[in-house]
Amino acid sequence: MKIKDVYCATEGRTAPRDHWNIPRGKEGACTRPPMPPGLIRQIIAGAVNDTRHADGNVTSTRMLTCPREVIILDNFPITFDPRRLHSAFIGTQVDRLIKEGSLPGEYSEVVIPPTKFFEGTKYEVEVSGAIDYLSPDAVFIDDYKFHGDRSYWYKMKSGGLSPELRAQLTFYKWGVEKNVPGAKVTKGGVWHGAMTAASVDDDAGRPETPWFYADVPFFESEEEVLRIRPSDADKKPGTQPYTVGDIILFYKAHKERVAGGMSVMESAKMVPLVGRNMFNKTKCIKYCVAQKQCDEMEGLSWGM
Ligand code: SF4
Ligand SMILES: [Zn+2]
Repeated sequence: MKIKDVYCATEGRTAPRDHWNIPRGKEGACTRPPMPPGLIRQIIAGAVNDTRHADGNVTSTRMLTCPREVIILDNFPITFDPRRLHSAFIGTQVDRLIKEGSLPGEYSEVVIPPTKFFEGTKYEVEVSGAIDYLSPDAVFIDDYKFHGDRSYWYKMKSGGLSPELRAQLTFYKWGVEKNVPGAKVTKGGVWHGAMTAASVDDDAGRPETPWFYADVPFFESEEEVLRIRPSDADKKPGTQPYTVGDIILFYKAHKERVAGGMSVMESAKMVPLVGRNMFNKTKCIKYCVAQKQCDEMEGLSWGM
Protein backbone atom coordinates (compact mmCIF):
# COMPACT_ATOMS: atom_id res chain seq x y z
CA MET A 1 0.00 0.00 0.00
CA LYS A 2 1.34 3.41 -0.90
CA ILE A 3 0.25 6.49 1.01
CA LYS A 4 -0.16 9.84 -0.72
CA ASP A 5 -1.52 11.85 2.19
CA VAL A 6 -3.59 11.19 5.30
CA TYR A 7 -7.06 11.93 6.55
CA CYS A 8 -7.12 13.32 10.09
CA ALA A 9 -10.63 12.54 11.33
CA THR A 10 -10.49 14.70 14.45
CA GLU A 11 -9.35 17.75 12.53
CA GLY A 12 -11.72 16.80 9.71
CA ARG A 13 -9.23 17.36 6.93
CA THR A 14 -6.76 15.80 4.57
CA ALA A 15 -3.20 16.49 5.65
CA PRO A 16 0.34 15.83 4.35
CA ARG A 17 1.77 12.38 4.77
CA ASP A 18 4.06 13.40 7.67
CA HIS A 19 1.10 14.86 9.62
CA TRP A 20 1.69 12.59 12.62
CA ASN A 21 5.47 12.64 12.38
CA ILE A 22 5.82 16.22 13.54
CA PRO A 23 6.36 16.31 17.33
CA ARG A 24 3.61 17.91 19.39
CA GLY A 25 4.02 21.65 19.77
CA LYS A 26 6.07 22.03 16.60
CA GLU A 27 4.72 23.94 13.63
CA GLY A 28 2.45 21.82 11.45
CA ALA A 29 1.92 19.16 14.14
CA CYS A 30 -1.50 17.58 14.47
CA THR A 31 -3.55 19.50 17.02
CA ARG A 32 -5.81 16.58 17.95
CA PRO A 33 -4.59 13.15 16.81
CA PRO A 34 -7.41 10.62 16.40
CA MET A 35 -5.37 8.10 18.42
CA PRO A 36 -1.93 8.06 20.07
CA PRO A 37 0.57 9.11 17.40
CA GLY A 38 2.88 6.22 18.32
CA LEU A 39 0.11 3.79 17.41
CA ILE A 40 -0.74 5.63 14.20
CA ARG A 41 2.87 5.37 13.08
CA GLN A 42 2.86 1.62 13.74
CA ILE A 43 -0.37 1.16 11.79
CA ILE A 44 1.09 3.11 8.88
CA ALA A 45 4.33 1.12 9.00
CA GLY A 46 2.34 -2.14 9.04
CA ALA A 47 0.30 -1.06 6.02
CA VAL A 48 3.28 0.14 4.00
CA ASN A 49 5.34 -2.98 4.77
CA ASP A 50 2.62 -5.53 4.03
CA THR A 51 4.10 -7.43 1.12
CA ARG A 52 1.72 -10.36 1.24
CA HIS A 53 -1.32 -8.33 0.22
CA ALA A 54 0.41 -6.40 -2.51
CA ASP A 55 1.37 -6.16 -6.15
CA GLY A 56 -1.40 -8.17 -7.70
CA ASN A 57 -0.94 -11.19 -5.42
CA VAL A 58 -4.27 -12.97 -5.19
CA THR A 59 -4.67 -14.28 -1.65
CA SER A 60 -7.56 -16.30 -0.33
CA THR A 61 -8.90 -13.24 1.49
CA ARG A 62 -8.73 -11.12 -1.66
CA MET A 63 -11.25 -13.35 -3.38
CA LEU A 64 -13.64 -12.62 -0.55
CA THR A 65 -13.48 -8.84 -0.67
CA CYS A 66 -13.99 -5.92 -3.04
CA PRO A 67 -11.67 -6.33 -6.07
CA ARG A 68 -11.82 -2.60 -6.80
CA GLU A 69 -10.29 -1.91 -3.37
CA VAL A 70 -7.53 -4.46 -3.92
CA ILE A 71 -6.64 -3.05 -7.34
CA ILE A 72 -6.57 0.53 -6.04
CA LEU A 73 -4.36 -0.44 -3.09
CA ASP A 74 -1.94 -2.31 -5.35
CA ASN A 75 -1.61 0.47 -7.89
CA PHE A 76 -2.37 3.93 -6.59
CA PRO A 77 -1.19 5.93 -3.58
CA ILE A 78 -4.12 6.53 -1.26
CA THR A 79 -5.33 9.00 1.34
CA PHE A 80 -4.82 7.01 4.52
CA ASP A 81 -7.23 7.07 7.46
CA PRO A 82 -5.72 5.02 10.33
CA ARG A 83 -9.16 4.31 11.83
CA ARG A 84 -9.94 2.02 8.92
CA LEU A 85 -6.99 -0.27 9.57
CA HIS A 86 -6.98 -0.18 13.35
CA SER A 87 -8.85 -3.46 13.84
CA ALA A 88 -6.82 -5.33 11.25
CA PHE A 89 -3.62 -4.01 12.81
CA ILE A 90 -4.60 -5.10 16.33
CA GLY A 91 -5.54 -8.53 14.95
CA THR A 92 -2.06 -8.88 13.48
CA GLN A 93 -0.51 -7.97 16.82
CA VAL A 94 -2.59 -10.59 18.64
CA ASP A 95 -1.39 -13.18 16.12
CA ARG A 96 2.17 -12.14 16.84
CA LEU A 97 1.64 -12.46 20.60
CA ILE A 98 0.21 -15.96 20.21
CA LYS A 99 3.19 -16.91 18.11
CA GLU A 100 5.66 -15.51 20.63
CA GLY A 101 3.96 -17.28 23.55
CA SER A 102 3.73 -20.64 21.86
CA LEU A 103 5.84 -23.69 22.61
CA PRO A 104 7.98 -25.06 19.80
CA GLY A 105 5.68 -26.64 17.22
CA GLU A 106 2.55 -25.28 18.88
CA TYR A 107 2.27 -22.33 16.57
CA SER A 108 3.45 -22.88 13.08
CA GLU A 109 2.43 -20.37 10.52
CA VAL A 110 2.61 -21.93 7.09
CA VAL A 111 2.75 -19.89 3.92
CA ILE A 112 1.09 -21.34 0.85
CA PRO A 113 2.97 -20.27 -2.27
CA PRO A 114 0.98 -19.18 -5.33
CA THR A 115 -0.94 -22.31 -6.23
CA LYS A 116 -3.40 -23.01 -9.04
CA PHE A 117 -7.04 -23.39 -8.07
CA PHE A 118 -10.09 -24.13 -10.23
CA GLU A 119 -7.75 -25.71 -12.76
CA GLY A 120 -9.06 -26.18 -16.25
CA THR A 121 -12.03 -23.84 -15.75
CA LYS A 122 -12.49 -20.19 -16.71
CA TYR A 123 -11.91 -19.38 -13.02
CA GLU A 124 -8.39 -20.85 -12.94
CA VAL A 125 -6.26 -18.58 -10.78
CA GLU A 126 -3.11 -18.67 -8.66
CA VAL A 127 -3.80 -18.06 -4.99
CA SER A 128 -1.44 -17.69 -2.05
CA GLY A 129 -2.18 -17.54 1.65
CA ALA A 130 -0.88 -18.02 5.18
CA ILE A 131 -2.26 -20.49 7.70
CA ASP A 132 -1.99 -19.59 11.38
CA TYR A 133 -1.54 -23.16 12.51
CA LEU A 134 -0.90 -26.40 10.67
CA SER A 135 -0.31 -29.51 12.76
CA PRO A 136 3.07 -31.11 12.14
CA ASP A 137 1.37 -34.12 10.53
CA ALA A 138 -0.60 -31.73 8.26
CA VAL A 139 -3.91 -33.13 9.46
CA PHE A 140 -5.54 -30.11 11.00
CA ILE A 141 -5.45 -26.34 10.65
CA ASP A 142 -6.47 -23.51 12.95
CA ASP A 143 -7.05 -19.85 12.30
CA TYR A 144 -7.01 -17.03 14.85
CA LYS A 145 -9.42 -14.12 14.46
CA PHE A 146 -9.50 -11.17 16.80
CA HIS A 147 -12.60 -9.00 16.56
CA GLY A 148 -14.30 -5.89 17.73
CA ASP A 149 -16.74 -6.52 20.56
CA ARG A 150 -19.89 -6.35 18.43
CA SER A 151 -18.55 -8.54 15.71
CA TYR A 152 -17.47 -11.06 18.34
CA TRP A 153 -20.96 -11.28 19.87
CA TYR A 154 -22.37 -11.76 16.44
CA LYS A 155 -19.92 -14.62 15.84
CA MET A 156 -20.99 -16.16 19.17
CA LYS A 157 -24.62 -16.04 18.20
CA SER A 158 -24.01 -17.56 14.82
CA GLY A 159 -21.80 -20.34 16.15
CA GLY A 160 -18.63 -18.71 14.88
CA LEU A 161 -19.12 -19.81 11.31
CA SER A 162 -19.61 -17.92 8.11
CA PRO A 163 -19.36 -19.05 4.48
CA GLU A 164 -16.35 -16.72 4.06
CA LEU A 165 -14.53 -18.43 6.91
CA ARG A 166 -15.38 -21.86 5.59
CA ALA A 167 -14.11 -20.79 2.17
CA GLN A 168 -10.89 -19.43 3.62
CA LEU A 169 -10.12 -22.61 5.54
CA THR A 170 -11.11 -24.74 2.57
CA PHE A 171 -8.57 -22.84 0.46
CA TYR A 172 -5.94 -23.54 3.11
CA LYS A 173 -6.80 -27.22 3.13
CA TRP A 174 -6.58 -27.46 -0.65
CA GLY A 175 -3.40 -25.33 -0.62
CA VAL A 176 -1.70 -27.72 1.80
CA GLU A 177 -2.83 -30.78 -0.11
CA LYS A 178 -1.63 -29.36 -3.42
CA ASN A 179 1.80 -28.48 -2.00
CA VAL A 180 2.59 -31.23 0.51
CA PRO A 181 2.73 -34.64 -1.16
CA GLY A 182 0.48 -37.13 0.61
CA ALA A 183 -1.08 -34.53 2.96
CA LYS A 184 -4.74 -34.94 3.84
CA VAL A 185 -6.19 -32.17 5.99
CA THR A 186 -9.27 -33.55 7.71
CA LYS A 187 -10.09 -30.95 10.35
CA GLY A 188 -10.17 -27.18 10.57
CA GLY A 189 -11.17 -24.72 13.22
CA VAL A 190 -11.06 -21.13 14.27
CA TRP A 191 -10.34 -19.29 17.48
CA HIS A 192 -12.49 -16.18 17.76
CA GLY A 193 -11.34 -13.62 20.30
CA ALA A 194 -12.16 -10.08 21.38
CA MET A 195 -11.88 -7.60 24.21
CA THR A 196 -14.98 -8.44 26.22
CA ALA A 197 -16.40 -7.32 29.56
CA ALA A 198 -14.53 -9.03 32.40
CA SER A 199 -17.63 -9.91 34.41
CA VAL A 200 -19.66 -12.97 33.55
CA ASP A 201 -23.37 -12.43 33.08
CA ASP A 202 -24.93 -15.80 32.44
CA ASP A 203 -28.43 -14.40 31.97
CA ALA A 204 -27.19 -12.50 28.99
CA GLY A 205 -25.53 -15.61 27.69
CA ARG A 206 -22.10 -14.13 27.91
CA PRO A 207 -19.12 -16.42 27.69
CA GLU A 208 -16.72 -17.00 30.51
CA THR A 209 -13.79 -16.34 28.31
CA PRO A 210 -13.02 -13.78 25.63
CA TRP A 211 -12.07 -16.56 23.21
CA PHE A 212 -14.02 -19.49 21.86
CA TYR A 213 -13.20 -22.21 19.41
CA ALA A 214 -15.42 -23.36 16.57
CA ASP A 215 -14.97 -26.30 14.23
CA VAL A 216 -15.09 -25.19 10.62
CA PRO A 217 -16.44 -27.73 8.16
CA PHE A 218 -14.71 -27.57 4.81
CA PHE A 219 -16.59 -27.16 1.58
CA GLU A 220 -16.67 -30.30 -0.52
CA SER A 221 -16.26 -28.85 -3.99
CA GLU A 222 -14.77 -25.90 -5.83
CA GLU A 223 -18.22 -25.16 -7.29
CA GLU A 224 -19.60 -24.51 -3.80
CA VAL A 225 -16.84 -21.99 -3.09
CA LEU A 226 -17.33 -20.24 -6.43
CA ARG A 227 -21.00 -19.69 -5.62
CA ILE A 228 -20.48 -17.88 -2.28
CA ARG A 229 -21.48 -14.21 -2.20
CA PRO A 230 -18.89 -12.69 0.16
CA SER A 231 -20.23 -10.45 2.94
CA ASP A 232 -23.81 -10.88 1.83
CA ALA A 233 -26.58 -9.75 4.19
CA ASP A 234 -27.77 -12.71 6.30
CA LYS A 235 -31.32 -11.44 6.50
CA LYS A 236 -31.59 -10.47 2.85
CA PRO A 237 -29.52 -12.94 0.84
CA GLY A 238 -28.59 -11.58 -2.55
CA THR A 239 -28.11 -7.99 -1.37
CA GLN A 240 -24.51 -8.53 -2.40
CA PRO A 241 -24.95 -9.84 -5.94
CA TYR A 242 -21.42 -10.97 -6.83
CA THR A 243 -19.99 -14.42 -6.19
CA VAL A 244 -16.41 -15.55 -5.56
CA GLY A 245 -16.46 -16.75 -9.18
CA ASP A 246 -17.46 -13.28 -10.40
CA ILE A 247 -14.74 -11.65 -8.30
CA ILE A 248 -12.07 -13.96 -9.75
CA LEU A 249 -13.24 -13.07 -13.26
CA PHE A 250 -13.05 -9.34 -12.43
CA TYR A 251 -9.38 -9.75 -11.43
CA LYS A 252 -8.62 -11.76 -14.56
CA ALA A 253 -10.38 -9.32 -16.89
CA HIS A 254 -8.48 -6.41 -15.33
CA LYS A 255 -5.16 -8.17 -15.83
CA GLU A 256 -6.00 -8.92 -19.45
CA ARG A 257 -7.06 -5.33 -20.20
CA VAL A 258 -3.82 -3.97 -18.76
CA ALA A 259 -1.74 -6.58 -20.60
CA GLY A 260 -3.56 -5.48 -23.75
CA GLY A 261 -2.35 -1.90 -23.28
CA MET A 262 -5.17 -0.20 -21.38
CA SER A 263 -4.03 2.11 -18.59
CA VAL A 264 -4.41 0.68 -15.09
CA MET A 265 -6.67 3.58 -14.16
CA GLU A 266 -9.02 3.09 -17.12
CA SER A 267 -9.19 -0.62 -16.44
CA ALA A 268 -9.67 -0.17 -12.67
CA LYS A 269 -12.67 2.03 -13.38
CA MET A 270 -14.28 -0.88 -15.19
CA VAL A 271 -14.03 -3.17 -12.15
CA PRO A 272 -17.49 -3.31 -10.54
CA LEU A 273 -18.08 -1.68 -7.18
CA VAL A 274 -18.47 -4.96 -5.33
CA GLY A 275 -17.93 -3.37 -1.92
CA ARG A 276 -21.00 -1.15 -2.27
CA ASN A 277 -23.29 -3.94 -1.12
CA MET A 278 -21.02 -5.74 1.33
CA PHE A 279 -21.75 -5.81 5.09
CA ASN A 280 -25.26 -4.47 4.57
CA LYS A 281 -23.86 -1.66 2.44
CA THR A 282 -21.40 -0.41 5.09
CA LYS A 283 -18.16 -1.81 3.67
CA CYS A 284 -17.27 1.31 1.69
CA ILE A 285 -18.07 3.93 4.29
CA LYS A 286 -16.70 2.13 7.31
CA TYR A 287 -14.06 -0.32 6.28
CA CYS A 288 -12.64 0.47 2.86
CA VAL A 289 -9.13 1.91 3.02
CA ALA A 290 -9.42 3.05 -0.61
CA GLN A 291 -12.79 4.78 -0.42
CA LYS A 292 -11.57 8.27 -1.25
CA GLN A 293 -9.75 7.11 -4.37
CA CYS A 294 -12.69 4.96 -5.41
CA ASP A 295 -15.11 7.85 -5.01
CA GLU A 296 -12.84 10.13 -7.04
CA MET A 297 -12.73 7.55 -9.82
CA GLU A 298 -16.52 7.59 -9.83
CA GLY A 299 -16.64 11.38 -9.87
CA LEU A 300 -18.14 11.44 -6.37
CA SER A 301 -17.06 13.91 -3.74
CA TRP A 302 -15.79 12.38 -0.57
CA GLY A 303 -17.66 13.56 2.50
CA MET A 304 -16.23 12.21 5.73
S1 SF4 B 1 -15.31 2.30 -1.76
FE1 SF4 B 1 -16.47 0.38 -1.82
S2 SF4 B 1 -16.64 -0.15 -4.00
FE2 SF4 B 1 -15.02 1.38 -3.78
S3 SF4 B 1 -13.13 0.22 -3.56
FE3 SF4 B 1 -13.89 0.60 -1.51
S4 SF4 B 1 -15.11 -1.19 -0.99
FE4 SF4 B 1 -14.85 -1.19 -3.21
ZN1 LIG C 1 -4.54 15.95 12.74
